[in-house]
Amino acid sequence: MSLTPDIAARIEQAVDEAFDAQLAFTQELVRHPSLRTQESSAQDLLYRAMAERGLAMDRWELDPEAIAAHPGAGRIKVSYEGVENVVGTYAPAAEEGRSLILNGHVDVVPEGPVEAWSRSPWDAPIIDGWLYGRGSGDMKAGLAANLFAYDAVLRAGFAPAGRIHFQSVAEEECTGNGALATIQRGYTADAVLIPEPEEDMLVRANVGVIWFDVRVAGHPTHPREMSAGFNAIDAAHHVMGRLRELEERWNEQRKEHPYFEDLDHPINFNLGGITGGDWPSSVPAWCELQVRAAIYPGMSADEAWEQIQDVLRSTTTDDAGHPIEAVGERTGFYAEGYVLPEGTDAENALRRAHRAVFEEELRTFTTPGYLDGRVYALYQGIPALVYGPVSEAIHGYDERVDIESVRRITKSIALFIAEWCGLTEAS
Ligand SMILES: [Zn+2]
Repeated sequence: MSLTPDIAARIEQAVDEAFDAQLAFTQELVRHPSLRTQESSAQDLLYRAMAERGLAMDRWELDPEAIAAHPGAGRIKVSYEGVENVVGTYAPAAEEGRSLILNGHVDVVPEGPVEAWSRSPWDAPIIDGWLYGRGSGDMKAGLAANLFAYDAVLRAGFAPAGRIHFQSVAEEECTGNGALATIQRGYTADAVLIPEPEEDMLVRANVGVIWFDVRVAGHPTHPREMSAGFNAIDAAHHVMGRLRELEERWNEQRKEHPYFEDLDHPINFNLGGITGGDWPSSVPAWCELQVRAAIYPGMSADEAWEQIQDVLRSTTTDDAGHPIEAVGERTGFYAEGYVLPEGTDAENALRRAHRAVFEEELRTFTTPGYLDGRVYALYQGIPALVYGPVSEAIHGYDERVDIESVRRITKSIALFIAEWCGLTEAS
């Protein structure tokens, strides 16, 4: 059965009817602080929500050894004890339509200094059309939208004709190993949709990301003979300056990379943390930098890492000739970027769904951040549609998601399910 305007209207209305419940569920999800390695209570909630819908449930702990064997694995520096993925599968009575993965990540980034927030990051109030809280936009609204979009198809009196895997994965914000573990477990489909907060747009291209530490050595002395010592924190500033030169070289190459030509500064090296020295009265003997670097699609992680290490190896003195030793070590993401090919059937189906709901053309853009879409695009060769609601201040203070945008995105996902998987009359 094809998606007629009448059926589309019934499905959209079904989203409206359950929208209060959808927001309440999203709020409940935000109230679980699913920081890295602390995702289990949020996963419990998602597990129950999927099981109540009659999905075939699968929940497993991430296996560090198995994941580490994958070329796209991020370096694992934490225990995966209790770190789990949840997948619920809908299987139609007769599988006649195309299959789909509806993915989302349950982990959220640290809230930072709580006093900088207007209210607790783990409250989830709705104020003036925005739902607040850490993870509200990135991406618990999306996780909820996947489930409620599916509900709307059923509520309208239909059943999807293709298999659907609902995935809630860990580790998206640091390694991408949660999504990798789903493909190692055997999950695949004809397309994947990930409702990350993308401002009602579709991601055309995104960068890869590498995380690494740089350990810089100095020479400890008493501050009274400071000139005889060598300050590792000063040296680390010099090393970061050399890395910034590599960052600029890569940015200058943007004209050679389709979808990146028009961006001002697509490649960002973020100095995300710094530790060093022992106390105020010794010249610091050591300093450690935590760095996140971005790489263009098409550049291998190995090649990028080699260039980064070249910079570190060749930084042997500072400008005054003091010796420097800088050693890099991978700590998390080791991910390559990807480009969503133009004109796939999946994109075209999403374009029609988006147009029906938003009454305008779907826009695409390039994002200079990591996305789990790369796992499916690079290692399964399936169209990865990263498309989701309007948000503000993700990874910042007072993170929030626009609830009318969430409503429209949910309708769009529901119509996409209907068209992509096909519909049968519910029995
Ligand atoms: Zn995200």
